Amino acid sequence: MLKKIGLEKLNEFVSALIEKGTLFAPVKGDAGVDFQEIKNAGDVTLDFYNTLQSPKCVFFPQTDDMVRYRLKKETTDIEEISLDFEPRIAFGIRPCDVKSFEIMDKLFTRGGIVDPYWESRRKNTTIMGYAFDAVDPADFYGAFGIHAADTTGSDVFMVKGEKNLLLKAITEKGEKLLSSVDTLEDALEEDRKYFEERLKKGAELETRTLSLEGVAGKLRDMFGSPYWEKVAAPCLNCGVCTFVCPTCHCFDIQDETLFGEGTRRKIWDSCMFTDFTLEASGHNPRTQKSQRLRQRVNHKFSYYVTNFEVTSCVGCGRCTRSCPVNIDILTVVEEAVESV
Ligand code: SF4
Ligand code: SF4
Repeated sequence: MLKKIGLEKLNEFVSALIEKGTLFAPVKGDAGVDFQEIKNAGDVTLDFYNTLQSPKCVFFPQTDDMVRYRLKKETTDIEEISLDFEPRIAFGIRPCDVKSFEIMDKLFTRGGIVDPYWESRRKNTTIMGYAFDAVDPADFYGAFGIHAADTTGSDVFMVKGEKNLLLKAITEKGEKLLSSVDTLEDALEEDRKYFEERLKKGAELETRTLSLEGVAGKLRDMFGSPYWEKVAAPCLNCGVCTFVCPTCHCFDIQDETLFGEGTRRKIWDSCMFTDFTLEASGHNPRTQKSQRLRQRVNHKFSYYVTNFEVTSCVGCGRCTRSCPVNIDILTVVEEAVESV
């Protein structure tokens, strides 16, 4: 099923999507474009390269309440937060970010140990992928077999033309969504041709790349190398690279209480922070920034590969674009591997 809508009617279409469930879509802010829950259709933009932060917030928000409680003298009232999330729509997700959801599924549902917060949102969400039409020099998603107009993992895939937004249903879920929106028109033969051409061109666009063969083992072999001190020297341990990354998933669980009332919540954490590994005894196995940078790179390109047979990176380029001291993870992996 291929549908279309004129770009001048985008607001109408977005309003129809808001009726179908909680909508997350790209919104232009002061610093750039980011995903937000949409209340006003006019806030949504389709004019961006990629968002500053990844769309992982759709399934894994920065803070996520688990229980609220009131402490009493002899008992505690506990209110569990419902996991019955309303249907959700994630709109305008770039192909590399769509792939990141599958990588995170492996962690959050591994071996029957399921994170219900991730799983409930994932099940209830329709993903509307969105083709890139250019390549940013920081990107290297091609290294993972992803291309600029890759429809894999999307329920609906969107291509923006000069006058229309074309939407193709990829899964049954996507078909159900598109058939339920009256504002969409059936695509014509010329639209079909344009859509196919854009998929073909997307597959031809080249990003930077990297051979992944043997990387996991080579990183293990150079664990004690002085290279890590050299490359980590400028790092500020700001943690931005982990917060913007679609596949970084570390979190802490904290209690916030005031006058006997409290909330227990999940909060994003970062392996780049000094106290990330601080133990209750006061011992910290990763006091040096070189150890923390090494951990981030090894986690993604070696340990995750051993545990889940996939690299925990999609080459979205966000960490490179956001790092205040220009540390580029692709260059780090290349140099580390070459140093063995
Ligand atoms: S963004 Fe750059 S400076 Fe900040 S923690 Fe990551 S590597 Fe270090
Ligand atoms: S490590 Fe960097 S390039 Fe890889 S997915 Fe995370 S932010 Fe994107």
